Amino acid sequence: MRVGTPAESRPAERRVACVPETVSSLVDAGLTVHVQEGAGRHAHALDAAYRAAGAVVTPEDPTPESDVVVSVQPLTIAQASALKPGAVTISFLQPQGERELLDVYARRNVTSFSFDLLPRVTRAQSADALSSQALVAGYRAVLVAAERLPRFLPMFTTAAGTVPPAKVLVLGAGVAGLQAIATARRLGAVVEAYDVRKAAGEEVRSLGAKFIELELETQSGVYASAQSEEFLERQRELIGEHVAASDVVITTAAIPGRKAPVLVTTDMLKAMAAGSVVVDLAAESGGNYAGSVAGQEIWVGDVLVHGALNLPSSMPVHASKLYSRNVLNLLKLMIADGSVSPDLSDEVLDGCCLTHDGQIRKELP
Ligand code: NAD
Repeated sequence: MRVGTPAESRPAERRVACVPETVSSLVDAGLTVHVQEGAGRHAHALDAAYRAAGAVVTPEDPTPESDVVVSVQPLTIAQASALKPGAVTISFLQPQGERELLDVYARRNVTSFSFDLLPRVTRAQSADALSSQALVAGYRAVLVAAERLPRFLPMFTTAAGTVPPAKVLVLGAGVAGLQAIATARRLGAVVEAYDVRKAAGEEVRSLGAKFIELELETQSGVYASAQSEEFLERQRELIGEHVAASDVVITTAAIPGRKAPVLVTTDMLKAMAAGSVVVDLAAESGGNYAGSVAGQEIWVGDVLVHGALNLPSSMPVHASKLYSRNVLNLLKLMIADGSVSPDLSDEVLDGCCLTHDGQIRKELP
């Protein structure tokens, strides 16, 4: 069976779904791997390395001849329309925006898997691309902020006087938030963080940051569910003083499948010191600051707001290596005797399979 890795077709996507190390594992599992020329160039995975790992490097897109097509971004409609009937695809699929693509997949009897819907159970952790890419985004968010901040992050004691450390506030302490906390701490900042899940407090404190407890009724579930506007209003009232006292705010709060909660207001930004920086990792899903624009930097008074857009793509080497391992681990759940045959009675595959047998299997929000 043939696994194809086309060059990513969406603008500014620098990751690749299958790195040479993964090719070796797939070849060892009895599969043939075809990679489009230059597919890994942004991730510094060269065609020669793919060949050395056992892949066939093709000048043309391998999609139409492949039984399994792996990519980071969803395939284009043209690629999907050229898939072999019965093929398998693995990618992020952001199903809300991809109705037309799902229709094509269903018409072509394609079995499509989306990492966006992977069940977050222990057995699926090694395939959890949302987590691996959130880790990259959280790390990168702090570097973006540090680069734009017109002051030091760490404390310095010099003959010319002492520079106090910068204060970093992280809103949302999930995978990205925890990585942002760890990175800001490594750079010497004083960090505090808030999450609606009180359980996140222990992890925050173990990274050397202060966990902010707000006098709020919170859900006790593992994941935050959609909060009422009344709840968010109260949250904003209480978080404002922390935002005002920070030099950097990294916002990562998200609610799976929904618009991000608004945690930061323009009034809060106006209360921050001139030159402060906000990096809004939720910008693509509406923003934790409602004025954030994904892919743009805007000034709100004297505060810079960076609306993050696909930050993992800006660190393509490790983002690709981690993503590629996630792809391999998902594929391992489907490989038997050198062929890929997904068994949808497996709860992990069932959870993230969007189309199969000519049907769209999940209701789109
Ligand atoms: P996410 O990206 O959906 O959300 C980020 C964070 O925002 C979450 O921690 C959430 O609680 C928080 N949030 C939502 N609304 C908020 C609000 N109004 N104010 C403040 N914070 C708010 O979540 P994620 O990072 O993908 O994962 C969240 C949790 O699940 C983490 O604890 C993570 O370790 C855990 N997790 C478990 C598994 C697994 O068991 N396989 C896999 C991945 C993540």
